[in-house]
Amino acid sequence: MAWVVLEGMRFHAFHGVYEAEQVLGSEYIVDVYVDTGIQNAAKTDSLAATEVNYETVFHICLVAMAKPRKLLEAVVSDIIAKMKRQFPGMKGIKVRVKKMNPPIYGNMNLGEKHQAIGGRADSAWVEDEQKFVSDCPRCKQKFLCYKDETCWCKALTNIHPATLETLTRQFGTSCLCGTCLKLYAG
Ligand SMILES: [Zn+2]
Ligand SMILES: [Zn+2]
Repeated sequence: MAWVVLEGMRFHAFHGVYEAEQVLGSEYIVDVYVDTGIQNAAKTDSLAATEVNYETVFHICLVAMAKPRKLLEAVVSDIIAKMKRQFPGMKGIKVRVKKMNPPIYGNMNLGEKHQAIGGRADSAWVEDEQKFVSDCPRCKQKFLCYKDETCWCKALTNIHPATLETLTRQFGTSCLCGTCLKLYAG
């Protein structure tokens, strides 16, 4: 298992539901962990070329952080989607987006009138972890599949539509490994 990790990236960004967060912004810390250990999974030609590098990971986070979102969940999934598009050979990924000193507003009913109580916390964060190792439904070998439109297999355009239809009937919508897919391509 090999990991490429970029921890503690700091940004000033404008995510959040409160006006203050959207106007003044907040401090954020972003952590990205990429499991690059693909030696156990069948490597296809298209996976061999892309090595995960820090500069690109940082740039992906920068772009995602620059786009204001109401929820941290949306920021996390933006980063993961961009990572999948950029790096087709990841075995897994974990992304954490942490908002520092988030404003937290509570409402307390004190009899006759409502009184707003304001507070603060050190941080609020959202984390998502995804694993991409699958078992090929045809040969049972382990291989990498992103299970969406960012998967490397979607770039294989030389499979006849009729063949694809047969494959879908036989193996469902889950991907086959590169070796098996090659048998049907061309
Ligand atoms: Zn296979
Ligand atoms: Zn796939």
